Parts: sequence; C-alpha cells; structure tokens
Amino acid sequence: MLKEHTICKVQPCSIAEELELEPGDVLLSVNGHEIEDVFDYKYFTNEEYLTVLVRKGTGEEWELEIEKEYEDDLGIEFENGLMDEYKSCRNKCIFCFIDQMPKGMRDTLYFKDDDSRLSFLQGNYVTLTNMGERDLERIVAYRLGPINISVQATDPALRCKILNNRFAGEALKKMDVLHKAGIPMNGQIVLCKGVNDGEQLKKSITDLMGYMPVMESVSIVPVGLSKYREGLYPLGPFTKEDAKEVLGLVHQFQKTCFETCGLHFVHASDEWYLLAGQELPGEEIYDGYPQLENGVGMLRLLREEFAAALGEAVAESSGPGGFGGLARAEKITIATGVLAAPTLQELADAFQREFPQKEIQVISITNQFFGEQITVSGLLTGQDLAGQLKNRDLGSRLLLPCSLLRSGEEVFLDDITLSQLKNALQVEIDIVKSSGQDLVSCLIGGADQVLCRAGREKLGE
Ligand code: SF4
Repeated sequence: MLKEHTICKVQPCSIAEELELEPGDVLLSVNGHEIEDVFDYKYFTNEEYLTVLVRKGTGEEWELEIEKEYEDDLGIEFENGLMDEYKSCRNKCIFCFIDQMPKGMRDTLYFKDDDSRLSFLQGNYVTLTNMGERDLERIVAYRLGPINISVQATDPALRCKILNNRFAGEALKKMDVLHKAGIPMNGQIVLCKGVNDGEQLKKSITDLMGYMPVMESVSIVPVGLSKYREGLYPLGPFTKEDAKEVLGLVHQFQKTCFETCGLHFVHASDEWYLLAGQELPGEEIYDGYPQLENGVGMLRLLREEFAAALGEAVAESSGPGGFGGLARAEKITIATGVLAAPTLQELADAFQREFPQKEIQVISITNQFFGEQITVSGLLTGQDLAGQLKNRDLGSRLLLPCSLLRSGEEVFLDDITLSQLKNALQVEIDIVKSSGQDLVSCLIGGADQVLCRAGREKLGE
C-alpha cells in the first residue's frame, strides 16, 4: 500500500504556499517514487524538476510540476518529522541515563531512541545496532552525512557487554561500509571507569584512527551517574587522577593524529579538564568544534566569543554616542550548573571590570534532583533552581542558560514552567542563548533596555 504523509504546516512564502498546498493535504509521491520516510523525501526533492502528487482535502489528486533551484526546500512540514515511526533502541547500555531517571517524569523522557535518521536530522548519536541493511544502503546511495556514532568500544565483545546487546560487536562492521563509501562520521566514547578506559580506550582510539579523515572526530565523555542506580551495573565516578590520565592519553593521540592527517581528531569533553584542574585547550585544538553538543569545547568557545563581544561592547560604549552611561546600574544573578560556574564567574568578573555599574553574582546550582555528580546545567530542574535561589537577593534580573528549557518551550525538565519559577522567586528572568555574544548583550541590559551594535544595525541606526 502506498505510504501517505499528511502535511501539517506550509511555510509562508514557500514553493508549497505558491502551489496552494495546505495543512491536511497528503503527499503521495515525488517524481513517481513512493516516499518511505524523511531520507527519501530529502533525497527525491533535491532536484531541479519535480513532479509531486498530492491528494487535496476534497479528495482530488493534484499532479504538480515544479521547477526550482536544486537544493530549494518545498516548505512543507509533516505530522511526523521522520515521516515514519521512530525506531526505539535495542540496547540496554550499562550507563544509559534514561535508566537512571526517577519515576514519574513525563513519558517522552523515557523514550529510548536510536534512530539513524535522527542522527542526520538533529545530530543524535546512534549505535548502529538497529540500522537495517536497507537503511545502510540508502545512506550510501543518498550520500547522507555526517552520521554520529556511539562507539563506546571497538572490541566487539566489550561493546556487546557495554550495550547489553549480542549484536553490538557485529554492528561495528557498518562503520567499515560507511568508511569505504566516504560517508562522514563522528564518533563518541562514553567512558566508564574500569570498563572501557585504559588499554581498551587506547585500542578504541587506535582502531577509529583507521577511519580518519572520513571519520572527522571522536569525543571522550565521562559517564553521567545519577543517584538512581539501584539494581544497575555498578559504575563509579572518575577521580582527578583518572581525568589527568585520560587527558594525557588524549593529548598524545591528538599529536599523532595531527601529524598524520592535520586533524586533532580525538577530543576530551570539558568535564575532564575541569575535573583534572587543567586549563582548557586553545581554539585551534578543537578542529572547528565538531562535537559541541557533547560538551567538547563549549567553555572554550564561550570564553572566546565572550571576549570578542565584550571588546566590541567596550569600544561601542566609550565612543562618541556610546551607550556606556546608559547601561543601567543593577545587580544581576547568573545561575548555572556546577561545571560551568567557575568559567561564568571569570566572565562575570571580566565584564564587571569594564562595566563597574553592574554587580554580577554567579550562583552554582547543585543538582539535587539527579544527584550531585551531575554537574551540567542542561540537567538542572526548576525545583532545584527554586529551592536554591529562594530567599536570596537576586537583584533585578536572573539569567539562566537556555539549555535548561525544553527546546522551544518555557518548561524545565521537571515540568515546572518559567512563569512558575518567576512567581516563586519574584524576579525577572532572562534566558540566555548559548553564545558569548548573547551573554554580553544580556548583561548589558537586554534588547529592550540598551541596544548594542547588532541591534542598532538591525534598526538601521
Ligand atoms: S543506546 Fe544505550 S544509552 Fe542510548 S538510549 Fe539505548 S540503552 Fe540508552
């Protein structure tokens, strides 16, 4: 039976709108091809001439001839982003964070996806254990990429043990196919103490180096351990000494990789540097930050962006017609996770030296919800913020990183809303996007108070 895809949104000023397509219309085929899922849709619409078959709400079928630029999107969104069922994961990894969550959270948080289509669409890391031959063939045929792969270990038996899946070792062979076809890849190793570290880590990195430069990077991230691990595989936290050892190994490999192919290739996430008490590497080591989503280089990038934006703000504020005197005197609080707090304190101090009328305090929020070993800000909850910030003098504004909120929504991980937090703390809250520019702009006063250059340019001033 022909697979049908119901349109849920037509973007304004798009090709689809021009063709009078509407929500509720059903896409039947593109250039005579049945569309199985988003892979097919993206591939078959990537043409200059299209014949698109659509069934209108009236039941009438329209055959639309379209001429467009090769890569122009039609401007259609479908009810299901993948245009197919989500593939759930077939593993039971010994470190899976979903198994370490308390009961009673919203259902969607417990869904374990391991769908390679999400790797291309939104950068998810996948294990390849449920990627069928047909999907692999399509990735190669459609030249999709990059694909982000959770490797964990290249020793097949060890990988089976870590993923708790007897097919996990065999699945590694799919990387050979992807490599041979030149499909760009990124790898990730979630390091578990006493399991895939030490000699096994050396082996994994060495094996993955064989895929360079088609594989563009490999990140080493420490396992996240919540306080809800009862009955799960016994895993312990890494110590400062462990972190130093991991960094020593990573730096050694980076040197070799750079000499071999001009890429540093293997990267330790920021957590390792903070745990070891070592300075973060310079920008040039990060090869263009391919693994920011894994917390690799986030703090370095933030510092660099912040320094550049602060320099610009200082120059603007002091020049003729500058806003220096307009940036109002106020007390501001930045709340963030334990991991990023020292870096944010440094940035706040630097800002305050230039704009002394601002008093900025940085409050490090301990993750009591998941346990103190979870230090990233993205896993902080509304209740921890409310609990640890109440009865404190937060000044006129509270700045929170946007990673705390569910994408596109004003809701924290524990379903507390931004307005509930505002009410509880009785303070204005500004959500700061992830870049250093955003932070500087927010500290200066937010878009509604003082416009920095970007804002003024936008208004043609
Ligand atoms: S692949 Fe492993 S870590 Fe990811 S969702 Fe499945 S069990 Fe959890």
